Amino acid sequence: MDVTWRVAGPSDLHLHSVRSDGTETPAEVMAAAQRHGLRTVALTDHDTTAGWDEAGRAAVPLGLTLLPGMELSARHDWRSVHILGYLFDPADTALVAETDRIREARRSRAARIVANIAHDHDLTWDDVLAQTTDGATVGRPHIADALVARGFAPDRSAAFAGILHPRAGYYVPHYAPDPFTAVRLITDAGGVAIVAHPATAGRDRMMPVAVLEELIGAGLAGFEIDHRENTEAGKAALREIAARHGLIVTGSSDYHGAGKPNRPGENTTSDEMVARIVERATGSAPVHG
Ligand code: AMP
Ligand code: FE
Ligand code: FE
Ligand code: ZN
Repeated sequence: MDVTWRVAGPSDLHLHSVRSDGTETPAEVMAAAQRHGLRTVALTDHDTTAGWDEAGRAAVPLGLTLLPGMELSARHDWRSVHILGYLFDPADTALVAETDRIREARRSRAARIVANIAHDHDLTWDDVLAQTTDGATVGRPHIADALVARGFAPDRSAAFAGILHPRAGYYVPHYAPDPFTAVRLITDAGGVAIVAHPATAGRDRMMPVAVLEELIGAGLAGFEIDHRENTEAGKAALREIAARHGLIVTGSSDYHGAGKPNRPGENTTSDEMVARIVERATGSAPVHG
């Protein structure tokens, strides 16, 4: 099969909605993507596929093509690792069981963080629930929004730099599978697994190259390289590994609505790479508008 994507135009393969920690509904995310001139988009909420149907229904009349996706939480040693999955079967039993487990663990962990904060600040679990939609994957961004609503921080970024920072002493990690399990779950469900922002700075900095290469051996399809949080040195290292292994490389915004400064289309993925993802996937199909 020749690698051409039937839909030419700018592609952004990493956006979040209120089904996890974005601030817009899936339909609003699609509208924002269209306003920013995108042609193909992926909805990649954390650990859930709950936004797929709404996003697909909104994408079609806007003339957008949707690649249904997800950003699956994983952990390697102490490091939080995010694995983007595209076009997998959303009914896959093993994947559904694992994402259910992660979402539940995220919820109890968020409640523990709130209990820790409540020793020092007037914050309740109800404040956090008021910032989430029903069934959404709960994360620190929702606690950040509750802190903002209470006047303890001016915006999410400030909350993350302050009360929510692990150094502030309230932080609790949540259960997440190791990245090998995450890649296998996505791949076994017919999806394409790509490491999200693999080269961030700080405590979640890049996994050792040997581990990345083991993941490639285990079915990892590629790296998200053009992402505002990847360091320049990290991008160069990732490009070299990707070229050596013939990997898919993507670029994306990681849009979270008003929750982050990231704008749709600030980084994009080439038509060739989108074609390779679609061609490799067997679990579900793109929704064409
Ligand atoms: P959690 O997975 O619950 O620990 O929270 C991490 C999430 O918070 C990530 O998915 C990011 O989207 C979001 N996040 C991390 N840092 C920031 C920040 N400085 N401002 C806004 N959102 C952030
Ligand atoms: Fe997020
Ligand atoms: Fe992420
Ligand atoms: Zn993300």
